[in-house]
Amino acid sequence: MNAALPGATHLECSLTGERLESELLQRLSPAGKPLLARYDLDALRGRFTPDALGGRRSDLWRYADVLPVRDPACIVSLGEGWTPLLDAPRLAASLGVRRCLVKDEGQNPTASFKARGMALAVSRALELGAKTLALPSAGNAGGAAAAYGAAAGLPVHVVVPSDTPVPILEEIRSLGAHLHLLDGLITDCGRVVQKGVREHGWWDLSTLKEPYRLEGKKTMAYELFEQLGGRLPDVIVYPTGGGTGLIGMWKAFEEMEALRWIGGDRPRMISVQAAGCSPIVRAFEAGVEDAGYFEGAKTYASGLRVPAAVGDFLILRAVRASGGAAIAVTDQEMARWVNIVGRTTGVFAAPEGGAVAAAVPPLLRKGVIRESDEVVLFNTGSGLKYVGMEPLAPEGPDDP
Ligand SMILES: *Cc1c(COP(=O)(O)O)cnc(C)c1O
Repeated sequence: MNAALPGATHLECSLTGERLESELLQRLSPAGKPLLARYDLDALRGRFTPDALGGRRSDLWRYADVLPVRDPACIVSLGEGWTPLLDAPRLAASLGVRRCLVKDEGQNPTASFKARGMALAVSRALELGAKTLALPSAGNAGGAAAAYGAAAGLPVHVVVPSDTPVPILEEIRSLGAHLHLLDGLITDCGRVVQKGVREHGWWDLSTLKEPYRLEGKKTMAYELFEQLGGRLPDVIVYPTGGGTGLIGMWKAFEEMEALRWIGGDRPRMISVQAAGCSPIVRAFEAGVEDAGYFEGAKTYASGLRVPAAVGDFLILRAVRASGGAAIAVTDQEMARWVNIVGRTTGVFAAPEGGAVAAAVPPLLRKGVIRESDEVVLFNTGSGLKYVGMEPLAPEGPDDP
């Protein structure tokens, strides 16, 4: 890949549709909402086809036609994406569904799917001239930002809650990033980054506050389609923090339809959160689009400890339009299912991977998932990054 890549044509406000220039560093839209990268899909139709992917590199850059990087020299890659989609018949039997597949995102660089988003965000930051990278993180995003910043040769500041899993703190330090610890939540960490943005010109890689982490994570949907032999599953169960992966896959389905890879059918999208931090579930149940702030967020699944999501309305629209649902599971249930996933599949899942499995039995009882369904569970990270972390009891009126 030496010739210039097509790249995006423009950016679009996810709320108002307003168009913005794509070849400048851009954060949120003037309306304060996430920006979506748009491509010339009419020109790509018939040229960028599933058949054309055959001999391509086995990472997410195989989909470079629908990614924003233009100069191949700006691609910062550690081998992200193209993770296995594992058939899991014994897990399917434990869950009570016809077929279950595990998309094992723990096999990405830095052992979580945050690598997908950071590969794109850092490549674009490099291409568009950012000098210093920064982000607040619940954990894994910090490790991935540190890794891709190191690979790009750019300094990175990572601000994380002080109770972030120790393996992740060690990872961030070893990768040479500046680590700032804070007694608080990711939203508090965000304020420290905003100060650095104002005072030192840091480029903020916060999820959905720049347009490209979404583009990295959307490649999960292209992979599912390819790995299933040119179709999509009935149900996708996804552990939701900021929702970037769910929103990204939904966007990829639209692109794939415009490219005529698929028709109008979509998998039912299930958003799974922790009982101790479930703003999306609360909004889903209330029938509203604005999830607001979840007070007292508490869960050992650090990727799910996101009390406010700037893309809340996009998550909720996708879940509802797909006929899916949002559901919360306790830390204890996550931990129990980490073990069931482990012994039935051989995958040592993150608590977030346990959470998606834990969500299936109650959704079967509610009829949102059916026994006849083919269900894809996203294990978004490796259990190794949570060693030493214990499930937390959610605080609530029912708890002693
Ligand atoms: C960040 C993270 C999530 C949540 O991902 P979003 O796409 O931001 O919702 C889930 N699992 C793990 C392991 C994570 O690191």
